[in-house]
Amino acid sequence: MVLTFKDRTALVTGAGRGIGKAIAETLAAAGVNVICVSKSESSCGAVAEGIRSRGGKATARAVDVADGAAVAEAAAELLAEHEVIDILVNNAGITRDGLMLRMSDGDWQEVIQTNLSSCFYWIKGITRPMTRRRWGRVVNISSVVGLMGNPGQINYSASKAGIFGLTKSLAKELASRSVTCNAVAPGFIETDMTAGLDEDVSREITSRIPLKRLGKPEDIAGMVAYLCSEEAAYVTGQVFTVDGGLVM
Ligand code: NAP
Repeated sequence: MVLTFKDRTALVTGAGRGIGKAIAETLAAAGVNVICVSKSESSCGAVAEGIRSRGGKATARAVDVADGAAVAEAAAELLAEHEVIDILVNNAGITRDGLMLRMSDGDWQEVIQTNLSSCFYWIKGITRPMTRRRWGRVVNISSVVGLMGNPGQINYSASKAGIFGLTKSLAKELASRSVTCNAVAPGFIETDMTAGLDEDVSREITSRIPLKRLGKPEDIAGMVAYLCSEEAAYVTGQVFTVDGGLVM
């Protein structure tokens, strides 16, 4: 099936690397105009440049998604430039792992702000024109760790589980305006975030995955593109696990 996008503009956070980069490139390849957001100018700039060099439409904007005031300012400026941003993909995320007893307040706050509060900030900044136009897509990137828990990641798993509640409540709030809101929960995906896993841990994880491999960023991008398309108009408030069968 070929997915349909009718002259849409998307904002993808964390688009500088890994999963966000694959999402930005997949949407752009389908004809979507993509605003690539990341923390550093160089990473989102390079992704947007790459998309343009292949004939796609993309711009870049460095924004610290953990900073509510910075997101509000960027969202207002971007809406002034683009009139409407039809698709919002909240993908930016970090880990600051450590066992609970040793976890600092700073590591707790930073992960909650970057992974969860950022979704709230962008949704608040971007979705009002979607509701007026009676069309919109919000996709929040969570994690299987939000479903299963993981020792050493109480901050990360809490932020990712929080995304489920946010997604379902927002889906109910915006459904009457034909704006859908869904979450995708990736399993273990080959990106910079998992590059630090030592070989034994990686082998052990792979042995528990029925499809016997880690995922690729494109495995997640395909699901996100579907959820952003016309074809997904009747899908809202759901969590889609894309993890090679790890969680069943
Ligand atoms: P990644 O390779 O580490 O890339 C993270 C991206 O997020 C980068 O572009 C980074 O910007 C951006 N970012 C981080 N903090 C930011 C901030 N404060 N403001 C703006 N941008 C920020 O991560 P990934 O593996 O692709 O993960 C993407 C998402 O999927 C995350 O939410 C992650 O939790 C989730 N996830 C990943 C996995 C996995 O196995 N990889 C599994 C489940 C869920 P810069 O490029 O400027 O540094």
